[in-house]
Amino acid sequence: MAAIKHRRTALERVEKFISDVYFTDCNLRGRLFGDRCPPASLSYFQTPRRIPYEEAVVQEFGPAQVGQSFGPTWETCWFKVELSIPPAWAGREVHFVWESDGEGMVWRDAQPVQGLTKEGEKTSYILTRSLKESEPHSLTLYVELACNGLFGAGKGSMIAPPDPDRRVTLSKAELVVFNRDVYELLVDLEILLDMAQLLGEENQRSFQALYTANQMVNVCDVTDPSTFPAAHELAAAIFSQRNGESQHTIHAMGHCHIDSAWLWPYEETIRKCARSWVTVVHLMEHNPELTFACSQAQQFEWVRSCYPGLYARIQDFVAKGQFIPVGGTWVEMDGNLPSGESMVRQFLQGQRFFQEQFGRLCSEFWLPDTFGYSAQLPQLMRGCGIQRFLTQKLSWNLVNSFPHHTFFWEGIDGSQVLTHFPPGDSYGMHGRVEEILKTVKNNKDKGRVNHSAFLFGFGDGGGGPTQKMLDRMKRMSNTDGLPRVQISTPDQLFSVLEKESSQLCTWVGELFLELHNGTYTTQAQIKKGNRECERILHDVEVLSSLAVAQDRGFRYPASQLQQLWRLLLLNQFHDVLPGSCIQLVVEDALQYYTEIRRAGAQLQEEAVQSLCRDLLQPNAWSTPSTLVLNTLSWERTEVISRPGPEGTETLALVTVPSMGYALVQEPLVPPQPVAVRKQEDGSITMENGVIAVCLDTMGHLTSLQLLDSGRESIPDGCYANQFALFDDVPLYWDAWDVMDYHLETRKPVTTLLKPLEITLAGGLRGSVRFSLQVGKSSTLTQEIILDAACPYLRFLTQVEWKEAHKFLKVEFPVQVRSTNATYEIQFGHLQRPTHWNTSWDWARFEVWVHKWLDLSEHGFGVALLNDCKYGASAHRNVLSLSLLRAPKSPDSTADIGHHQFTYAVMPHQGSFQEAGVIQQAYNLNFPLHVVPASCAQCPAWSAFSVSSPAIVLESVKQAGAGVEEGRAEGLRCCCWAGLAFTHTQGGQAQLSTAACAGEAVPVSPVCTPPKAEDRAEGLVVRLYEAHGSTVTAWLQTSLPIKEAMLCDLLERPATEGHLPLEPQGLRLSFTPFRVLSVLLLRSC
Ligand SMILES: [Zn+2]
Repeated sequence: MAAIKHRRTALERVEKFISDVYFTDCNLRGRLFGDRCPPASLSYFQTPRRIPYEEAVVQEFGPAQVGQSFGPTWETCWFKVELSIPPAWAGREVHFVWESDGEGMVWRDAQPVQGLTKEGEKTSYILTRSLKESEPHSLTLYVELACNGLFGAGKGSMIAPPDPDRRVTLSKAELVVFNRDVYELLVDLEILLDMAQLLGEENQRSFQALYTANQMVNVCDVTDPSTFPAAHELAAAIFSQRNGESQHTIHAMGHCHIDSAWLWPYEETIRKCARSWVTVVHLMEHNPELTFACSQAQQFEWVRSCYPGLYARIQDFVAKGQFIPVGGTWVEMDGNLPSGESMVRQFLQGQRFFQEQFGRLCSEFWLPDTFGYSAQLPQLMRGCGIQRFLTQKLSWNLVNSFPHHTFFWEGIDGSQVLTHFPPGDSYGMHGRVEEILKTVKNNKDKGRVNHSAFLFGFGDGGGGPTQKMLDRMKRMSNTDGLPRVQISTPDQLFSVLEKESSQLCTWVGELFLELHNGTYTTQAQIKKGNRECERILHDVEVLSSLAVAQDRGFRYPASQLQQLWRLLLLNQFHDVLPGSCIQLVVEDALQYYTEIRRAGAQLQEEAVQSLCRDLLQPNAWSTPSTLVLNTLSWERTEVISRPGPEGTETLALVTVPSMGYALVQEPLVPPQPVAVRKQEDGSITMENGVIAVCLDTMGHLTSLQLLDSGRESIPDGCYANQFALFDDVPLYWDAWDVMDYHLETRKPVTTLLKPLEITLAGGLRGSVRFSLQVGKSSTLTQEIILDAACPYLRFLTQVEWKEAHKFLKVEFPVQVRSTNATYEIQFGHLQRPTHWNTSWDWARFEVWVHKWLDLSEHGFGVALLNDCKYGASAHRNVLSLSLLRAPKSPDSTADIGHHQFTYAVMPHQGSFQEAGVIQQAYNLNFPLHVVPASCAQCPAWSAFSVSSPAIVLESVKQAGAGVEEGRAEGLRCCCWAGLAFTHTQGGQAQLSTAACAGEAVPVSPVCTPPKAEDRAEGLVVRLYEAHGSTVTAWLQTSLPIKEAMLCDLLERPATEGHLPLEPQGLRLSFTPFRVLSVLLLRSC
């Protein structure tokens, strides 16, 4: 009989035939499951803690029932499930079905075997594909049920703060017979139906698919499985009609984006990893073609230590090339706020972990879900052996559509990486027709490349791929009318993109996300913890390195530093440092910072004690004095506060050499003391011979003069240091977003609580103080400080913040005209426009910055420095620093409470480079260390100095430091000092040939340790060109060095990287923003 002619009735007929809502009494979907049988027994116990299996199973279990609810939120229920499979089910596929709104894990024989999450379409554990008589029919399973969903427990909406009283219901726990032939037909029909609907009436394949599906319904008698093969044949026939050669190829890879903490705490993430990955491993056992790209070394480390059995299975699949570690970083970090050195450590810790555990480095950076990407990343990737980058987050841009999916991305130094955004704009595909059609249609580089990535699997809260996703894509592998879909790997995809890359375009500069700009400011304590702990670890490393060089007995705290770095790096995860997490996560993050501060202070003290032992130990000739240490690479003259008798503090002006120390007994006399004067109108002037300022009673800066030139920085009639409050109600993503329209709600803060008064009358330091009422219930107290010889004015600010949906900023209108402002980023800076000409310009109404931003015209400018803020803007001639927000989701308590932060304003002659703005911003962030000493005289000592002000010596650390202690020597040697050894035919160890630009090199897991005497002698010194200039500089050191060589960021020596030791030091050549690492071996 001829096929029916009415398109709509045919479509809906097929829909109803596979519907799980309608006609399930007589349709195919209703036949998916056969007989059912309840568990022989079901019992449970509940605990507020996340406990290991061994501890759980020895608890007392009480009776439980299907239909029962459990909770509250974050509790865990362990269920003991006794099953008895009816013998009559011989030959049938038997599933254990478990449905609840919590996240479950099935344990069998003390091992995790299957994650169960309804939201992730995982509700079955397959007990047998075909029940044999010899198989055990009775068995005991345990189900560990977390009382939270895949996306936490938001009350009312996903990102609302968690409902503390949420309960999860167990809606199903039973044995069922699974009819796989029905399942296969359902997948066939679903694909055909999608093709019929989505290919459109102009495409004949749409009708071919529809009529085939309709014919299948005709052929199928749902009560008679013997009719199913004929129907399946019809589907197979149409799926096997092939494409032409020009068809687009989709590289499908299993993936599971797991936020390391977000709407759930870190601890739950450990279980999410296990639930998701055990499911992947289980799928791989039955689908040898399945590949799975998996990022974040930290998550591997969690599973390694908490689920060793699962980890061993993962290692097997890594070896087979199916389970593929990607990314190379410790976590998928925020792409904007971590310092340059932090970003290096993300890669160093990550790549070393992958090298140690799996014998290979990752060759692609993987960061699909981060809120923007620093223009320094291409250089850092290349320095870590990575030339490929995958993300997709820019598809979230609110204003401008990014013009490419495959392109070369060029950073501020000129480094390029091949970058790919999966054109389907997602990292959580389900293998549906709609998604693969979108991938082709949406691709902005049609004609340039014909391959693209397709990441499938539930994500964010974990979950990962399902069998159904795989089965869908198998049918679409090469079907006329649809793109080719092949299961692939990141390496296969990028290799073919590299071959096709001749036509690709290049994007220069940052990948700015035009959304989530509130994340530069939200959760100010996390931002402050990050900046402060970056400084602490920097200082501990510098001082410990110097101590090692000076004191043979001092042991570099490698493993403690590794542990502290890993805590800091973990907190840089892309929902933690940005502040887009729930309160539980904030508490954990702040706890980690507390730990870094505590342990860091102790390590620093130990290093200083060792470095300066002779100066600090009292003896018969001791005289009280002060030791001042400088961890930065230039000489500094600053006012310090030193402890005097009986707990008093005295000020002193001191000069301390670069990366070294000086002993202070007689402080310097300032060239000009600070003068502070109160005027008749209540305003106060302060000057120090460098700058002169005038402040009104409200704390406004009404004048800021550079005395040398007499140049005024503040325009006539304008107030700088003006606080302004904005309404801050975004469209949805509360903690994330500040919208452009907030700028229309500006209200200057004008309520004075305490007028300006003098707190320090001058001399070495002058200061004034005032208090303001901010909004309805917040207060702000500020001390404005001018030090002798200091080129900037410092604003030490305390805020009691009790607002809701308000945004506090401080503004500095300046007498400077420029169409671009300059912002510090990782190891460099970049310009962004001060106007809103185009949509690309005004979409950057709120941007991120590190320690300083600057607005300069020829010969003069004003810089704004800060010690823990990241949000800023420069519109026309107004520099603004974003101080505090008050979002309510996902943490209703975000930022409520006490805050302390410092910013500073620095007018300057010449360019910001010539004026030393960069160094001053470092000085503000890295205070001199002041230690009471007991020695009268000692020459000042400098370990390192650099001849050019364009070069910043950023880090000094022990090479290879951070290798876990107690590991086999054979493993240790692979990473030690980053020396990658490979065996030659003669069995001789040989240095690998890593170029300093970071060309990817194959690194063999087989290696020979470096010679014992080299082991504890290596230091890595990292420098960068900060001015944006080509320059040759000398690195001088007073440490005994026998050998020096350039190395990459993974500390692998560069080919021909050997540096001659010359009388002036080491000669280093830099191009703009170039980062160089030098490996120094100490002479014995
Ligand atoms: Zn994410």
